[in-house]
This record gives sequence, structure tokens and C-alpha cells, in this order.
Amino acid sequence: MSAGDGAAMTHREARIDLAAAFRWFARMNMHESVANHLSVAVSGDGLKFLINPRGRHFARMRARDLLLLDADDAGTPGREDAPDPTAWHLHARLHARLPAARCVMHLHPVHATALACLEDPSMPAIDMNTMRFFGRVALDRDFAGMALSPAEGDRVAGLMSPGKTVLLMANHGVLVIGESVAAAFDELYYFERAAQTLLTCYASGRPLAIVSDEVAALTERQWRDYGQLAIDHLQNVKAILEHEAPDYLT
Ligand SMILES: [Zn+2]
Repeated sequence: MSAGDGAAMTHREARIDLAAAFRWFARMNMHESVANHLSVAVSGDGLKFLINPRGRHFARMRARDLLLLDADDAGTPGREDAPDPTAWHLHARLHARLPAARCVMHLHPVHATALACLEDPSMPAIDMNTMRFFGRVALDRDFAGMALSPAEGDRVAGLMSPGKTVLLMANHGVLVIGESVAAAFDELYYFERAAQTLLTCYASGRPLAIVSDEVAALTERQWRDYGQLAIDHLQNVKAILEHEAPDYLT
């Protein structure tokens, strides 16, 4: 994962890309009430980052609404416009500990969350989307209430070992990191799709047709060569929003 893409991004572009991701997750019903949080680093060291303000619905998010925070500023929770405390503790520590993870997205989308609630939440390689995540998923089995301390953010950051892009949080939801908003957005979109397909197969009650680890690993590598897909995905989302909901740009 290179930090270059995110670091080169101007502040304005980062705001627009992240606002588009909020809007699209709302359209896909991957949001939950006015909870959940997406952030993107805007400094090379990852310490300065943009995140959604507390209590604003994803469907109303505009580029200008995003808070600019400093992970090193311990006074942030006391600000009048302080972000949601769980958002602060998770994202500040993740950006501080993983500066290459330019974008951090945390949602409770139905299918990924349902998978996270199974005794065995692993993702067997049954189609191209599930194969995309072969070896990429870290698992947090230790749900212990809401993340309300920096220690919890540090613990979560410590679970993201090299090569992992997804943290499936047992009894909770999912967290994705990416080298750009486009990369994290695409990863989260596809993880939810993969979880939906897997759960649909489980619901059939019929045995799964799981491919070999070799085929799954090959397909995962092939996905990585399709990086342009993520860029095109977000570009198209922004083009649609510019036409249908141009206030997201403001
Ligand atoms: Zn959560």
C-alpha cells in the first residue's frame, strides 16, 4: 500500500471523494441511522484527517461538512463540534498508527454485519467477490462494548497486519482501510456484496462449492491488478451525484 496517492490528493479533492462515498453508501442502504464513520488522511503522516460530523445523515453530507481533525489533539473530544466519541477513538488511532492507510471506513451494513455475527464468520472462496478477500480479512473476535477509549483504537489498529484490508468485527460490523477513498470505497462495496452472496448460499441450506486455495489466491492477485476499477467506480458515482445531487460538492 503506498501513501503517495492519498498524500498527493488535495484537501478539496479528499472532501469531495469522501462526501461522495457517504452519499452512495446511503443510497445503497449501507448506512445506519446517523451512526458509522468514514475518514481520510490529508497529511503525509496521517495525523490530520477528515471525518463526518456527529449526527449528520450520510444522505445529507456535503464536502464542507467534514471535520478536519488532528489525531494528536487530545482536546478534540471537548470541542463544541466534537465528533462521535467512538469515531474519534477508532479513526484517530488508526490514522496515527497506520499512516499508509489513507482512508478508514467503518459501517454496519446488513450482510457484512450478519456474517460478523456467525460463530464461523470466515469467508470461503465461492465466487470472484469472495475470492477477492482471500487472505485480506482480519478478524476481531473480542467485542467488548463500544469503542470509547484510545486503547480500543490501538487494539483495533494492531489487528490490521500487513496485507489485511478488512477487519470483520464480531458482533459489530466491518472496518476497511485503503490507500485512497476510491480504494476503500470499492473494497467495502465488494465486501458487502461478497457477504450477501455467501449468506444467500447459506440460506439455501445446500453445500457450498468452495474452490481451492490456489485458485482463490490467484483470483485475489488478479483483483489487485484491477486497481483502475476502484478509481472508475468512484468516478462514476461522483458523475451521477454531480447530476442528481450536486449539493454534495458544496
Ligand atoms: Zn460500529
